[in-house]
Amino acid sequence: MGLRGLTAGKPAADYRRDRRRLVRQLRSRGVQDVALLDAFDRVPRHLFVSSVLRDRAYEDVPLPIGAGQTISSPTIHALSIEAAAVGPGRRVLEVGTGTGFQTALLATLGADIHSIERIASLHEAAGAALARFGVEARLMLGDGSLGWPEHAPFDAIIVGAAAARPPAALLEQLADGGRMIVPLGTRRQHLYRYTRRGDDVDRVKITRVRFVPLIVERRRGRGWPRP
Ligand code: SAH
Repeated sequence: MGLRGLTAGKPAADYRRDRRRLVRQLRSRGVQDVALLDAFDRVPRHLFVSSVLRDRAYEDVPLPIGAGQTISSPTIHALSIEAAAVGPGRRVLEVGTGTGFQTALLATLGADIHSIERIASLHEAAGAALARFGVEARLMLGDGSLGWPEHAPFDAIIVGAAAARPPAALLEQLADGGRMIVPLGTRRQHLYRYTRRGDDVDRVKITRVRFVPLIVERRRGRGWPRP
């Protein structure tokens, strides 16, 4: 055990204890879905963030993940997944794979998960992390605002970056009764749930949030200035 000083991080049992505390916090903040709480108890968030941030992995805060991006706080992931009503066998599209942590939560819930990431380095690192945990997910490098038509329709779409308006292609790829969770706005943002009902869609505001902007190709609009 003399190597402890040379390797980043704490013993596994400490992370387990931290993880349990986080699960209790999520429950006290109103997360009720037992399967979701169990997924938080099983997926090691500390192994999805950089080794220098490992000891903060079970705080309920967003953390930087490189390439100017951030992983959302556990509460925001929990709210999004609960609002999307993800469960076994549901076809789910995640826009913004990031570290792959939320991807792993969704897979642990038994969803048939498809995830798109725009930044190659993050796409590759997430693929490696998910493979290490034996998580099965279809991952693609590309612009997630266009969705993944070959695998549509989806029962749930979870967008992990803020858009000015809900991407039309994503609404089109929702199954009837399907739900899309998406943060909208620039400086002032809220998380919304869109539910498709036939050709109609209804919208519910969930909570105030702060996400990184969805990267939009220049030719498809003006894009947003970097934060
Ligand atoms: N939930 C993720 C973090 C998401 S951060 C996690 O658990 O780690 C938002 C991610 O969306 C970033 O990785 C960013 O690169 C990605 N992103 C931004 N615009 C995108 C787009 N148009 N298509 C796909 N991914 C995008």
